[in-house]
Amino acid sequence: MDEETIRKLYSDCSLCARRCHADRYDKPGFCMAGPRIKAARAAIHMWEEPVLAGSGGSGAVFFSGCTLRCVFCQNHEISSEGYGKEISAKALADIFLRLQEEGAENIDLVTASQFVPEVLYALDMVKDRLIIPVIYNSGGYESIETLKLLEGYVDIYLPDVKYCSDELSVRLSKAPGYFDTAIAAVREMIRQTGKPEFFPGSGKLKKGTIIRHMVLPGKRRDSIRILNELEKLGTDNFLISVMSQYTPFYKVKTDNAFNDMNRRIFSFEYDEVVDEALRLGMNGFMQEKSSAKEEYTPAFDLKGIEDQPCGAGDLKSMNNV
Ligand code: SF4
Repeated sequence: MDEETIRKLYSDCSLCARRCHADRYDKPGFCMAGPRIKAARAAIHMWEEPVLAGSGGSGAVFFSGCTLRCVFCQNHEISSEGYGKEISAKALADIFLRLQEEGAENIDLVTASQFVPEVLYALDMVKDRLIIPVIYNSGGYESIETLKLLEGYVDIYLPDVKYCSDELSVRLSKAPGYFDTAIAAVREMIRQTGKPEFFPGSGKLKKGTIIRHMVLPGKRRDSIRILNELEKLGTDNFLISVMSQYTPFYKVKTDNAFNDMNRRIFSFEYDEVVDEALRLGMNGFMQEKSSAKEEYTPAFDLKGIEDQPCGAGDLKSMNNV
């Protein structure tokens, strides 16, 4: 991708499903992104799903800004409050190589939708030297056009499917049409990656799509609807990761309008969702309930970036993965 194309994309931005048409050279879009890459952390991250973390961990780059900015976001400092440091595409390319040298099993692009053109620019710079898989870790509110730009660059997609009901997606993420958008995005991701494929003998994922869903307090019926819709994609076409880590953060802690979300989930809520995934024959991961602790929230420190204990909690295999 050349600089002129990047300029066009950023000056009337429709990179994500929100299509807010911001001129990011003038002012940031809904995602809070301007015309340069901004990131808050680039370090080895041990807490992705076991088939991703392996023994070396993921080389995770946490990008600032977000196309969803959920009211319960555990990373709200970087998703909604502008925390981060602007870096060039060349600096990003150097970070990819450094993470590879440090032993990362993969490059994990966390919430990169708003910077896809420059990420591709950076990946082009290192394509002959970067030999580990590239993961695109996404909230699911993607445009198909942008996903098509990623074809051939991304080996593993790691999308969330957060909500089925529009009432929830509008209330919690101001994202109308979220479910249909996320399902269309997942279909495109699976089209690009094909079925999950592993490195021989290592158990580490080489290619494929892992769909994440975090169970929310009082919303397990929505979770079960999501799983039943995902089943229609063919359960051998993706892995599922059912997450229990929900912890009240950000607006749900301070705004009474979200009182119903101001608690962790009960064990029975999580268990019902996992039971449904198993009933539907899904393969993937469940999470230790103990991972719903604030200390597991990533620490962002701007260094290029220094290792800190962080993560989403322990994940263990749900079926045969
Ligand atoms: S990536 Fe950001 S600026 Fe572009 S359409 Fe989405 S929210 Fe708007």
